[in-house]
Amino acid sequence: MGFFRHKKKIEYTKASWKIKRECLNLIFECAKSSFPHEFGGLLRVDDKVKDTITEVVILPGTISGDSHAIFQMHMRPIDFSIVGTVHSHPSPFARPSEADLHLFGKYGKVHIIAAMPFSGKAWKAYSYSGEKIEVEIV
Ligand SMILES: [Zn+2]
Repeated sequence: MGFFRHKKKIEYTKASWKIKRECLNLIFECAKSSFPHEFGGLLRVDDKVKDTITEVVILPGTISGDSHAIFQMHMRPIDFSIVGTVHSHPSPFARPSEADLHLFGKYGKVHIIAAMPFSGKAWKAYSYSGEKIEVEIV
């Protein structure tokens, strides 16, 4: 973040992403069981309904501090049903870190961060550029 502002038009994009309730629950479960470490995973959409996240591909191991290392290893194969990433923050803040923003910009279109207490509204979704985006629970 610099001290200057980009002058850009505010384009309001309507929420186009959806996530299955059970998928979100799984994210919370993984976040809880990995605590106090972070957990990392990939978001996969349905083959037919391409705007709905139906599956989380859980990455083995834990992420301690450096989110990229674990993601980069798993992102080599091109799988078009993978639309983004998910990871947890062992804190009440779902704000992306510098490392997270770097990761978001590199791979995928929708990125979820789950924060403590890993339930309810303790999660946020971001675009590749780190803008907050709406994801509807279905
Ligand atoms: Zn993070």
